[in-house]
Amino acid sequence: MIELIGVKKSFGNNEVLKDITLDVAKGSVVALIGPSGSGKSTLLRSINLLTVPDRGFIRVGDHTMDFSLPYALPRDRELAAFRARTGMVFQSFNLFPHMSVEENVMEGPVTVLRQPKAQARQLARELLAKVGLAEKAEAQPDSLSGGQKQRVAIARALAMKPEVMLFDEATSALDPELVGEVLAVVRSLAAEGMTMLLVTHEMAFARDVADRVIFMRDGCVVEEGEARQVIDNPAHPATRSFLSHFH
Ligand code: ATP
Ligand code: MG
Repeated sequence: MIELIGVKKSFGNNEVLKDITLDVAKGSVVALIGPSGSGKSTLLRSINLLTVPDRGFIRVGDHTMDFSLPYALPRDRELAAFRARTGMVFQSFNLFPHMSVEENVMEGPVTVLRQPKAQARQLARELLAKVGLAEKAEAQPDSLSGGQKQRVAIARALAMKPEVMLFDEATSALDPELVGEVLAVVRSLAAEGMTMLLVTHEMAFARDVADRVIFMRDGCVVEEGEARQVIDNPAHPATRSFLSHFH
């Protein structure tokens, strides 16, 4: 469902993604782990083209972006259409503070997909119920806890009917007691067969929910495999050393 081949990205002299090739099968959950600065966020941002790679191929579903010809950069409309295929959830929730919870979820369908408001509202209600926030539809984001805000952010991403969901440390900014409610939503999406790539420091969660784990270091995929295998019994010394910090 998501495929990267030979993806490279540098910022100045800093080569942040060095020839990344990976595959996320349809309906699978892949956890991306690795030390700070290893390129995890840049990799995720490349998939929805918030960061435009220097080289390589990126495929989401049946749409491919080809960066192998550096002079053939995609046009804005092409970028926007590609981006709409992925839903992204960040560490900071980025809700629109002047809109109600429901309006936050309606915003994309109304402004980007040109859905009638009544239809977008209906969808927003369904998605808020799905993330356990039906009763907060009219609330302002400010009045919510971090875990609730993050669940709204997930509902907002889902409202665009993405083919895949990308999570970049979606629970890292949360108080420990609020992490579980967000992970429960991710878990329910996994059970429904949503294709997901998640950057996470929650190793127990990755082991439990992810099908596969990818360990990155210095812009490279160092190890990749079945989640329990990589987390319980890593093959590469660098993975072992990284994971030892979590025990
Ligand atoms: P963390 O676990 O801390 O979030 P990460 O694995 O997500 O780290 P990235 O955010 O992808 O790492 O950053 C990888 C490298 O790219 C870092 O050296 C970072 O400073 C650099 N970098 C990322 N974005 C930019 C940018 N927009 N401009 C310049 N350098 C950047
Ligand atoms: Mg990051």
